[in-house]
Amino acid sequence: MTAAHYTVLAGGTGAAKFLRGLVRVVPEEDIHVIVNVGDDTNVWGLHVSPDIDSIMYGLAGRLETQRGWGLRDETFRCLEEMGRYGMPDWFRLGDRDLATHIARTELLRSGNTLSEVTARLAKSMGIEAAILPATDDAVRTKIETIQGTLDFQEFFVREHWQPEVRSVTYAGAEEARARATVLSSIRESRLVIIAPSNPITSIGPILAIHDIRDALRCTRAEVVAISPLIGHAAFSGPAAKLMEACGYEVSPSGVARCYHDFLDNIVIDVQDAALAASIRYETIGVQITDILMSDDAAATRLAEFVVQLEQL
Ligand code: GDP
Repeated sequence: MTAAHYTVLAGGTGAAKFLRGLVRVVPEEDIHVIVNVGDDTNVWGLHVSPDIDSIMYGLAGRLETQRGWGLRDETFRCLEEMGRYGMPDWFRLGDRDLATHIARTELLRSGNTLSEVTARLAKSMGIEAAILPATDDAVRTKIETIQGTLDFQEFFVREHWQPEVRSVTYAGAEEARARATVLSSIRESRLVIIAPSNPITSIGPILAIHDIRDALRCTRAEVVAISPLIGHAAFSGPAAKLMEACGYEVSPSGVARCYHDFLDNIVIDVQDAALAASIRYETIGVQITDILMSDDAAATRLAEFVVQLEQL
């Protein structure tokens, strides 16, 4: 039987943009998205899964795309009231977005796994793609800074990713297990795509789960990564800063290096064409196109380009 589905390893905003294109190129029900949970956090007793939410809202066409997170047409009245009570209000949760976190927390509390809860929430939003949390176990990204160890959201949102970073670790990853559906999704895929997401804090926590990295090494499918960097800079967010702190060259070559043990091809921008020879030298194929996704049309063009790499 030939594999019918495409598997995407995803963080939040960069991946959500790409998926908006991919659903226009292949049937949505043929897309499996393996999503980072290293950013998950607890706010006011609620389980918040920022990357899962960005992917769900993106696929449902409800993501606030300017901001890159949360729902469109959102209000923040609950947040204001919480601030009045002296509760932490640096992590912004919108009023309608709150329903997602309340429902998730309640369903988890009554014994469902994160995978089951995610499937239910996604179905309620009319999403046909399979959204698969990388693991149901708690893997949490920790940023070691000169101010001490911070949870990812403390570093990213509260501190605006300003503190100097010493290293990044993934608490719980050693013991974490991926569900069988995640592993078979990788092994039996027709093409595995590493979304243009932060290699350290979005894709890194997924790869830190041993079963997943092994499945990527073993899959017969082509594994293709889209660079989240042009030249030495990320389109947004702290990818460059964190790659540097983790000892990687800040460039598409550095991105290829993060995935060197399983990557077949990397898609880089036309502006970086000069890098192709040095990356190919590392036995990774290089494909060159425009990787800026300024709108859904640009994301669709990039998705078309990536999907035809299956035939290589
Ligand atoms: P996060 O969890 O919200 O940080 O989500 P991601 O890791 O998926 O998204 C952030 C990454 O997406 C950053 O490293 C950006 O450089 C990358 N990114 C954002 N916009 C674009 C784009 O238009 N094209 C490409 N290739 N990458 C992008």
